Amino acid sequence: MKELSGKKLAAEIKEWCIDEVENLKAETGSSPHLLVLQYGEDAASKAYTNRIAKNCENIGIEFEYQQIKDDPESFLAILKNANQDPKITSIMVQQPLPDELKDSLEMINPKKDIEGITSASLGKLFAGYDTLVPATAEACMEILDYYNIPLKGQRAVVVGRSNIVGKPVSILLQQRHATVTMCHSRTRDLTAELQNADIVVAAVGRPKLITAEMLTGNSIVIDVGTNFVDGKLIGDVDFDSSAEKVKMITPVPGGVGTVTNQVLMRNIVKSFKNLH
Ligand code: NDP
Repeated sequence: MKELSGKKLAAEIKEWCIDEVENLKAETGSSPHLLVLQYGEDAASKAYTNRIAKNCENIGIEFEYQQIKDDPESFLAILKNANQDPKITSIMVQQPLPDELKDSLEMINPKKDIEGITSASLGKLFAGYDTLVPATAEACMEILDYYNIPLKGQRAVVVGRSNIVGKPVSILLQQRHATVTMCHSRTRDLTAELQNADIVVAAVGRPKLITAEMLTGNSIVIDVGTNFVDGKLIGDVDFDSSAEKVKMITPVPGGVGTVTNQVLMRNIVKSFKNLH
């Protein structure tokens, strides 16, 4: 088994971002500027925001955080203003959002939509146009490419069909000529599907849902899952048993998540370039 660590790749993307931000600053006199907007309190989103702030600081990206409580009007006003403000080049709206504000994600200017979550961004991705791609989906592709894993004609099984991971990664794999099967909670026989896969992408959110018995010695496994169990981060794939059997597998932590953090930074750099 070969462990597909994301650490070196993440470091390379980070270095690229640092150089690029420096060059852009010299060229334009300004830097990429991210606004993270949060409605209400959510401990997990707060922790994620702190991590993003640190990553921005390391790269030279301006970081701004606004938290609004019990005032949907102000939240919408800040979002509208951020769309128009030329200083703000990237916008992230933290989830979960209350029902009354769920549609606000659609308001994000697609050029500043660094998570690639608006229907405009996703529509472009699905149609094969250049756009900001959801960072986790792109991170999966980056790892496959970094380790020179062939995709053309390969059978890929994606478990999970969310707009932010499962669907976009399926599209990206298919654009690279893999034959893609999408599985979800209603899939009749997940094991049978996985037994036919050359590449497995697990994006479910169920700790150790996929076990060694479901995989083969030919499987290349990209584990997107991030599940906290007893204070420990574990994936959707049972790493310990699977690692002995499969051809290649990403670790959790140190795999997809590590690369995703830096791909998100790269999207911030890209959005700045798109706007200038
Ligand atoms: P969602 O909850 O939005 O989607 C989960 C998907 O898994 C759904 O499509 C669901 O099917 C499917 N599913 C649920 N149970 C089963 C099952 N028993 N068998 C097969 N499929 C099942 O999750 P996300 O896509 O947002 O996230 C998935 C995982 O990836 C989570 O662990 C999340 O924390 C992690 N993640 C990691 C990131 C990273 O950077 N490493 C970034 C984003 C997410 P159905 O559609 O039928 O309900």
